[in-house]
Amino acid sequence: MQVGLVTGKEQIELKDFPEPVVEPGKVVVDIAYCGICGTDLHAWLSGSPYNPAICGHEWVGHASEVHSSVTTCKEGDRVAAGGRTACGQCSTCQRGDAEHCETAFAAICGMGPMAAPHGGFAPRIAFDGGRIYQVAPSLTDEQAGILEPVTIAVHAIRRTGIRLGDRVVVIGGGPIGLLVLQCAKAAGAGTCVLLEPQESRRKLAAATGADLVIDPMTADASEQLFAHVGSGGADVVFECAGIPATINQAVTYARRGGTVSLVGVASGKAEIEAAQWLVKEIRLQSSIASLREEFFMAQSLIADGRIKTEPLHTSTVSLDGIGDAFAALARNPLEVKVLVDPRL
Ligand SMILES: [Zn+2]
Ligand SMILES: [Zn+2]
Repeated sequence: MQVGLVTGKEQIELKDFPEPVVEPGKVVVDIAYCGICGTDLHAWLSGSPYNPAICGHEWVGHASEVHSSVTTCKEGDRVAAGGRTACGQCSTCQRGDAEHCETAFAAICGMGPMAAPHGGFAPRIAFDGGRIYQVAPSLTDEQAGILEPVTIAVHAIRRTGIRLGDRVVVIGGGPIGLLVLQCAKAAGAGTCVLLEPQESRRKLAAATGADLVIDPMTADASEQLFAHVGSGGADVVFECAGIPATINQAVTYARRGGTVSLVGVASGKAEIEAAQWLVKEIRLQSSIASLREEFFMAQSLIADGRIKTEPLHTSTVSLDGIGDAFAALARNPLEVKVLVDPRL
């Protein structure tokens, strides 16, 4: 069988892999869709070493073979990949912080003995049964293919402790920023501003709940922002652009005593005005990946319409089209979330 793997700078290849077999603790899944993540794109753009186990981690499919030791699903179930429950054994669990379980985090990073040899840009995958969860019947396959990035947004929102009526700023209108925006509104944000240089993405933000969209390249971007959230700044600012320059900008937009949430993975070292962070008594919250329970929360939010994934889904491609899809995602701002369908 052929599997798409990022193998170098601006290079994704279809490599031959043996057909997956079901082993103790594993489930073989026939993949329906696998979304291309910003992480995949970053690996493709940078060419830096990349764990093949996470190359294509946003997938949904049907369990075709389930080992007798697996309790999370049965044959025929529609399933997706998520996080494990906390192990209770690692040093962090032993400190009473199950949310930061080292074992669960390693698994989600594609490490450990249960890691698959490749990701979901494949017709089939043999996957750790502990990381499988069932997809609610109310979700379409396309919605389920965008579930994993929703969980990232759910996790970011829950970690900030956002409150009803909060004034929120989201920096960056990529898939994660757009979903953070929707989740912030679902969590009760009073108003939500999104900053994004690409017009098509600003339109998407406006169509999915942003109260104000701003082009950060315009001279009066800051004036527009403060005129909307108040001169003191926003209660919560989410940095979803992953650009070193926007890290400190997030603090500039936050009010004194406000919260800055780092969600985007910054591509390099960032300079900060430390005195500003201190004087404002900024509460810094960072967020990566998500927890097992958040996959179920994300499904409910999509099922009842509070989170809409459809506007983000811009194209579907076959495995053969994956190289062009990566290039389009890198260069064409009209592309937001591309689903790979290995059945095509
Ligand atoms: Zn992802
Ligand atoms: Zn643990």
